Amino acid sequence: MFFSVKELELHKVPFQVEFPPGGIEFFDPKLKQARPLEVSGTAQLDPMEEIRVRGHLKGLLIAECDRCLEPIEFPLDGDFDLCYRPAESDWGEEPASLSEQENDAGFYDGNGLPLADVVREQVLLWLPMQRICREECKGICPQCGQNRNEIECGCLVERIDERWAALKNI
Ligand SMILES: [Zn+2]
Ligand SMILES: [Zn+2]
Repeated sequence: MFFSVKELELHKVPFQVEFPPGGIEFFDPKLKQARPLEVSGTAQLDPMEEIRVRGHLKGLLIAECDRCLEPIEFPLDGDFDLCYRPAESDWGEEPASLSEQENDAGFYDGNGLPLADVVREQVLLWLPMQRICREECKGICPQCGQNRNEIECGCLVERIDERWAALKNI
């Protein structure tokens, strides 16, 4: 689905779309959809030519734990409200007020905005920066490659002393 400025100039555009797994490109090989992403809402053009997209997004994402690489589930179910400015607007440099920044997602090119971009944006906003399966995750052993949450592998991880490392380079 694509929101064209021409159509938005005439009226609000309601939408209700289901993106099947793989239907959204997240540009992150560690991130996958576990089931269809359901998204519904309304797009409208604000007086400043901003495209404002409001609605509800529901789905289930699977990511790899940053430490142990085990899959983690991220259920998503919530309302969103995002604003996109025309890319050619030159008031983008102005400091925005806090409330504006909150839903200021980015820019759209000339003739409109793909809904997939909005969905990707919101999903990434909701996911935590650091994705770990649990706070005390011990991760993968750099020595033997086993998951240290499951196995006490007993490897002694050698640490090259910085001072000795410096000597090696002489
Ligand atoms: Zn983990
Ligand atoms: Zn080990």
